[in-house]
Amino acid sequence: MKQVSIKCEMCGTFNDMFAENCMYCGAPLPKIEDKEEDDDDDQS
Ligand SMILES: [Zn+2]
Repeated sequence: MKQVSIKCEMCGTFNDMFAENCMYCGAPLPKIEDKEEDDDDDQS
């Protein structure tokens, strides 16, 4: 089982992979392996 943690770029704290914000400093965490860009650009 893989244990993935996200390292906060601001304070270096490792957060749960499901965390959206750092539990220590509250900085927004980068998403992991977000290969599918959620860009719903409707180009016409
Ligand atoms: Zn942090």
